[in-house]
Amino acid sequence: MDHFTYKNGALYAEDVALADIAKAVGTPFYCYSTATLVRHFRVFKEALADNNALIAYAVKANDTLAVLKTLAQEGSGADVVSGGEIHAALAAGIAPRSIVFSGVGKTRAEMEYALSQDIFQFNVESEAELHLLSTIASSLKKTAPIALRVNPDVIPQTHAKISTGQKESKFGVPIGEALALYANAAQLPGINVQGVSVHIGSQLTNLAPFASAFGRVVELVRELRKNGSAITTLDLGGGLGIPYGNTDAPPLPEAYAEIVKTATKGVDCRLIFEPGRVIVGNAGILVTEVIYVKHSETRRFIIVDAGMNDLARPTLYNAWHDIVPVKVDENAKTERVDVVGPVCETGDIFASDRLLRVPNAGDLLVFRSAGAYGASMASTYNARPLIPEVMVNGGEYAVVRKRQTYEELMQRDMLPDWL
Ligand SMILES: *Cc1c(COP(=O)(O)O)cnc(C)c1O
Repeated sequence: MDHFTYKNGALYAEDVALADIAKAVGTPFYCYSTATLVRHFRVFKEALADNNALIAYAVKANDTLAVLKTLAQEGSGADVVSGGEIHAALAAGIAPRSIVFSGVGKTRAEMEYALSQDIFQFNVESEAELHLLSTIASSLKKTAPIALRVNPDVIPQTHAKISTGQKESKFGVPIGEALALYANAAQLPGINVQGVSVHIGSQLTNLAPFASAFGRVVELVRELRKNGSAITTLDLGGGLGIPYGNTDAPPLPEAYAEIVKTATKGVDCRLIFEPGRVIVGNAGILVTEVIYVKHSETRRFIIVDAGMNDLARPTLYNAWHDIVPVKVDENAKTERVDVVGPVCETGDIFASDRLLRVPNAGDLLVFRSAGAYGASMASTYNARPLIPEVMVNGGEYAVVRKRQTYEELMQRDMLPDWL
């Protein structure tokens, strides 16, 4: 459920007409609903009904400071995958002890930064990373609290580019090698083994892969304890899918929580969750204006002012976003159209053969479910300034990330002496 709804044929974000925001900030822009964001966080948290669990929102889904701060005020922690995300999480007021650091390629500098901030947990993804972390922590006279991210080799049944838990994937330590690596970790200076972690992929719409993955890591926790390891945390990752409009509704957080409860019964660990998409995905939309309607022999193109640089998911993952008008025109004909952006790439297509009421130039369209992996993946390709992000809260709204100017776009450019 979200708070983007029609009133008398006009689309609103909570109590604010999107046409009004468009007039004030220009298009394209992202728009987030505070009520939706907060609701999704609470539904997830309440489904788990575990006050000791750490819900570490996956910052990469949307790293806008106002989004992070809204979640921080709800008690969210952060799952980060870079030094920049640690910095953003801290800036939003998320406590270091609520930050877990994931990722296959943590650099020396990032490890030093994370250690200096005393974060809650490093999710270590390889033997080499474990050794480097041990060296750095010892030299800083710190102890790194770690979990090993294990790769349970389950098929998550999602898009190949967001599958992470199969043995062919670059992520995690093969579960069959985990016991040996844990034994190794226990001997290393500067390392405190505290947990086990897993994350098998994103946009999962079926609970069975979660159940198998969780079953395998719980079994690992039991074996580790048998060998004398004091495992106190169990990080179950993120990955719960959301409805994008083209598939059956994915399982609700309550059903996911049931799977968790069944799998972790009697384990007695502090559970960690890293939800990203399920919290922000449907709390954001992208508003764009139709620039032209163009006919070729066989197609009808709706050319909009947002491009793949603003919202990469359709071209990257063949992702579907529902496309709806800001103002409903009952008289417009419904036809199959291609909705495309202005970027000079054939792949800059948001939807092909989509059945839509054909809009006119100047009309506003909305890509729904664009709150996750939208703005955070944007680039300035084609020298297109980054677009603004607006947050609505009841009847109020504010620009929470401003549109880049041409000057800002060129700010990092420098000319060498010979030019
Ligand atoms: C991306 C990622 C997440 C979040 O995934 P969602 O599908 O957005 O919930 C959680 N944990 C890790 C390690 C990730 O890489």
